[in-house]
Amino acid sequence: MPNTRPAEIAPDATHDPARRMPGTRPFILDGLFRPLTALPGIGPRNGALMEKLILGPKVLDLLWHKPSDFIDRRFSPTVKDAPSGKIATLTVTVMKHFPNERKNQPYRVWCTDETAGINLVFFNPHRDYLEKNLPVGAKVIVSGTVENFNDKIQMVHPDAIGAEEDYDSIATIEPVYPLTAGITNRAVRKAVGHTLEGLPDLPEWLDPALKTREQWPAWKEAVQLLHNPPGENGLNPNFPARARLAYDELLANQLALAMVRHHQRKRHGRVFKTGGALRDQMLKALPFTLTGAQKRSLAEIDADMGAPIRMLRLLQGDVGSGKTVVAALTMLNAIESGSQAALMAPTEILARQHAETLRPLLAACGIRFVTLTGRDKGKSRDAILQQIASGEAQIVIGTHSLFQDSIAFADLGVAVIDEQHRFGVQQRLMLSAKGKGVDILVMTATPIPRTLTMTSYGDMDVSRLDEKPPGRKPVDTLLVSTEKAEDMMSGLARQMASGARIYWVCPLVEESEFMDLAAAEERYDILKARFGDQVGLVHGKMKAADKDEVMRKFTTGEISILVATTVIEVGVNVPEATIMIIEHAERFGLAQLHQLRGRVGRGGDKSYCFLLYVAPLSEMAKERLGIMRETEDGFLISEKDLELRGSGDVLGTKQSGLPPFRLADLTAHGGLLEIARDDASLLIEKDPDLTGERGKALRHLLYLFERDQAVQYLRSG
Ligand code: ADP
Ligand code: MG
Repeated sequence: MPNTRPAEIAPDATHDPARRMPGTRPFILDGLFRPLTALPGIGPRNGALMEKLILGPKVLDLLWHKPSDFIDRRFSPTVKDAPSGKIATLTVTVMKHFPNERKNQPYRVWCTDETAGINLVFFNPHRDYLEKNLPVGAKVIVSGTVENFNDKIQMVHPDAIGAEEDYDSIATIEPVYPLTAGITNRAVRKAVGHTLEGLPDLPEWLDPALKTREQWPAWKEAVQLLHNPPGENGLNPNFPARARLAYDELLANQLALAMVRHHQRKRHGRVFKTGGALRDQMLKALPFTLTGAQKRSLAEIDADMGAPIRMLRLLQGDVGSGKTVVAALTMLNAIESGSQAALMAPTEILARQHAETLRPLLAACGIRFVTLTGRDKGKSRDAILQQIASGEAQIVIGTHSLFQDSIAFADLGVAVIDEQHRFGVQQRLMLSAKGKGVDILVMTATPIPRTLTMTSYGDMDVSRLDEKPPGRKPVDTLLVSTEKAEDMMSGLARQMASGARIYWVCPLVEESEFMDLAAAEERYDILKARFGDQVGLVHGKMKAADKDEVMRKFTTGEISILVATTVIEVGVNVPEATIMIIEHAERFGLAQLHQLRGRVGRGGDKSYCFLLYVAPLSEMAKERLGIMRETEDGFLISEKDLELRGSGDVLGTKQSGLPPFRLADLTAHGGLLEIARDDASLLIEKDPDLTGERGKALRHLLYLFERDQAVQYLRSG
């Protein structure tokens, strides 16, 4: 998750007020930033498990681990009236113990109230425990599921056993948490309990009018209610306590973005000459005219670059919408004014492909460029760096590492970042720290819903390429059960005979590139047995040179089927490719499917996309794949995907780059997001450095949701 960072666990020195920097975390939050192991009962072993479960190593992370259900133990019938199969809390007197004689027998404890008797049943009992906690003659409280067994009433392994005076603490609504192997609900409850005990009272950061209108509780109360849901409605996302905390989270997100945006813009950008002679030259060299959307986006970019503000703009454009040429024309603005431009791609292949696409265009304008990727080493790398440092290279095309490495530009004016969805706010901040007032254009091929644009790119202005270049033929999308894959292969053979080029994407195995690879290799072997040398394989673990070689062969048509894992190159452009086959399509996010499908239908020929699935499909999977068949509009697809799946996983697993929300759910809290955005932008207009009373309170909020990079930004900005 790109937006999380290792916990900041204050070393003792920071408790010394004299040594604490202004702008660092308020003391009052220290307790929440302790490591989990600071809680009683949590050691290194269960601490590690707990950390995995709650997605973080700190006490604070525990607060956000919200219950997903609850058990109502307030139901306290008499034994006679206790319905079988229901959870009940009973007050009974212990009559007699029946210890088991053999290991595989249960230990029984016979209890009664004034209405009936009940057996408490224990397998593999701890005798001492039972004798101590269920002494004969005592009144006890037991809570658990009541059952009828051979006409006798029994309770197997009560969930809770206590003395009479424990009634109030047992007969409650008990939250049920998401768990993991090795961590019981009881353990989570205990840890949460300790955390809630020490919860600080924080200054209120909400707008009073909003808080009153929504009837939201104070922060502390909201957290307590989150973990002690007062029944069914306590799990509803609109339950005031949940809604408030969701709003807090969204506000932290929007505030941080508004701050970044404010301070970015405040830094003076340079004024570039736009739309000059170089641009004319390149436009003349293009074999097409720009689409309306391209022209509009360029006009927006020109307005930013021609003004003394710093550009921070997102160019959203579906696959094939023509972002590359917009990038090139943008870079010319900087070069026309005598400075340099950089174009960064997420992978080496894409960087090289950009270079190849742009080579003739840049040559037509007499522009010198270099490419720089991880592959350049030693002397040749030094030579490239030298050209960048001297300004001899006017454009540098490379991977994202361009900005992580210590690469010195003579005078970088604009940076274009391609395929942004693997690139979080944090990295954008790093990047803008790199050059003084560098204009930034981020391009994303992942159409994302409006709400998600707000949460992830709220710091940027947005241009949309919502019109495809002319002459695209629609891609025919077919759903094919894997059982029918054989028939499809015969079809392929015919298509290949007439020169078709085919992508074959292998299943996504979550979080494991290794298994992706195994699946791809297996498919490759099968296809190779059938089609021989016409099949190539490319995957993330290959050496760069080998990858390039396979890609080159596919581009030139020496091979006709390219088997690939999804880790590779969603951006590759081979216009001759007309068939896309995606195995286990049901495992992919719609956005990913859409992107993959966008690899075909780029040339003049009719294209097809086969979505192979393993039957039977769930209703949800049917509906999702159905959407793929109905439309090619990426923005529409992403909105539908959000609707169907919720915000958690719209962009697929690893690469989303979206801020992970712990409490907010954009499908439920979309309205709150809008309010948070307006709230944040008004705030930053009035109090950009968060020094007013509400501003100071809001600093707590930024730390709570670990948006404190924004606070750091206040200081360094
Ligand atoms: P993206 O990066 O947005 O996925 P590309 O920039 O790779 O798309 O463009 C896809 C293809 O469309 C390229 O072959 C490009 O030359 C072509 N193209 C771009 N703009 C136009 C246009 N205005 N008219 C016709 N073809 C275009
Ligand atoms: Mg592209």
